[in-house]
Amino acid sequence: MTAQGFDGVERRGLMFVLSSPSGAGKTTLSRMLIDRMPGLKMSVSATTRPKRPGEVEGRDYFFVDKTKFEAMAKQGELLEWATVFDNRYGTPRAPVEAALAAGEDVLFDIDWQGTQQLREKARADVVSVFILPPSAADLEKRLHTRAQDSEEVIRGRMNRATHELSHWAEYDYIVVNQNVDDAFAEVQSILKAERLKRERRTGLTEFVRRLQRQLEK
Ligand code: 5GP
Repeated sequence: MTAQGFDGVERRGLMFVLSSPSGAGKTTLSRMLIDRMPGLKMSVSATTRPKRPGEVEGRDYFFVDKTKFEAMAKQGELLEWATVFDNRYGTPRAPVEAALAAGEDVLFDIDWQGTQQLREKARADVVSVFILPPSAADLEKRLHTRAQDSEEVIRGRMNRATHELSHWAEYDYIVVNQNVDDAFAEVQSILKAERLKRERRTGLTEFVRRLQRQLEK
């Protein structure tokens, strides 16, 4: 069942993945999507990295220690997981499966390693978007403005950005975040169009047949 369902036409939930180098504005875009797109739920990851100021347990992440993370991975509780900047990050499986079964779409803010794993598991249900910064200078500026991390961490993130960027061509869509409102409108259009894809919807054949019968009368 979905919120968009009508007259027997329903749709499977889709897995909407946003990836980008840190600082390209992905977190802001994710928040805007969750606030403005009904039927879309954020997947909250588990991580072993320390909480940053302002982050909230259960909203931004589930903050766990390494032992707990490894136990979750071992027990198959994670849909995918990866090591990023020496920390572990993973997607708890149960909330995602529950949302998809209820016909809701799930938004993932995960890296290329996680995206590859989701694609291997559920290719038809994964829609992936890579967010690019308009320039290296812009990316660096945003990492500094965020000011939550030390110089050393920022340097590490800039280096890591080069690596993350090299995976851009594995994504279905590319959005350049020059202006956050324009980038948001683009990402929103992608989700809206993907929701309408024929292959994702059931009951259309019967719906059209009914229409035809009514027209023939
Ligand atoms: P941050 O520490 O800045 O919150 O996130 C660092 C990176 O880890 C980001 O690129 C983010 O997309 C990625 N990430 C966050 N959660 C997950 C997850 O559950 N799985 C994977 N594979 N990557 C994640």
